[in-house]
Amino acid sequence: MRRAVLAALVAAGAAAGSSGTPSAQSAASPAPPAIQVEPVQKNVYLLASIGSGNITAQIGSEGVLLVDSGIDRSAPMLVAALQKLSTGRVRFIINTHVHPDHVGGNATFGKLAGADPADQLKIVGQQNVLNRLTHPAAGQPRFPEEGLPYDEYATTFKAMHFNGEAVLVYHEPNAHTDGDSVVMFRGSDVISTGDVFTPGAYPFIDLDRGGSVQGEIAALNHILDLAVPARTQEGGTYIVPGHGRICDEADLVEYRDMVVIVRDRIRDLIGKGMTLDQVKAAKPSRDYDTEYVSSNSFVSADRFVESVYTSLKKAVSR
Ligand SMILES: [Zn+2]
Repeated sequence: MRRAVLAALVAAGAAAGSSGTPSAQSAASPAPPAIQVEPVQKNVYLLASIGSGNITAQIGSEGVLLVDSGIDRSAPMLVAALQKLSTGRVRFIINTHVHPDHVGGNATFGKLAGADPADQLKIVGQQNVLNRLTHPAAGQPRFPEEGLPYDEYATTFKAMHFNGEAVLVYHEPNAHTDGDSVVMFRGSDVISTGDVFTPGAYPFIDLDRGGSVQGEIAALNHILDLAVPARTQEGGTYIVPGHGRICDEADLVEYRDMVVIVRDRIRDLIGKGMTLDQVKAAKPSRDYDTEYVSSNSFVSADRFVESVYTSLKKAVSR
């Protein structure tokens, strides 16, 4: 039932999101979008707003831990929404990846953090996120210093403990980007996936930032290893995707299967010697397009097919 509440909002959000392009922000109306808050399980909440990636908040006696911070424009609304949930400070932000709809609010929280070391904000991200934010492409603005993830990690995972539970941050190499983190709240039994998983939308495999379909599938399989379904229809591990509604293990299985099947079809077509244009014309994702493409989708069927094709071709030519 609660999933239906968010459906309309997140459908619009998914359409606007995943873009990684600053233009998505400037094109929107001047008023910051409202933040919708939804309990996920135990200590964990979903905060969603149009144009932003999903924000996960873990809340307890030690303060607030966020997974991602949304677009910069909605950060003041996010601060206000969090103040209704907790009087504690935001002590951690874990960035799932570098796109501006996931890191845009970092600096707002950096500026709010206390000077007392006990109150300081730590921003965590895989090392490639910090590298990309500190080396913007030509013509792109510098990312604000206060929002940089200086608590970067370069190992396969990072283990933390906050608000009475283990929080595990896993690097998923070369999936949506080259800096993806998946965050598992072990006590609350919730996983935040970032844009590796976007129900109702084809994955955006950001080839320019190190993404690949091989890494995308490996990441989805890894999340499935971490997620444990309950015996009943609902429950077990809840999954907060990068955009869209709260999901469970069954939703993720369906999504992983879709990506694997389309990948297999494209691999077969490449094996027959087809060019990209011929593969696109063969429409290898056709039976999934109604479920994963809408009129305002960021990733069209052709774009998804092209990203899979290019990933596979790159692997062969290596
Ligand atoms: Zn993204």
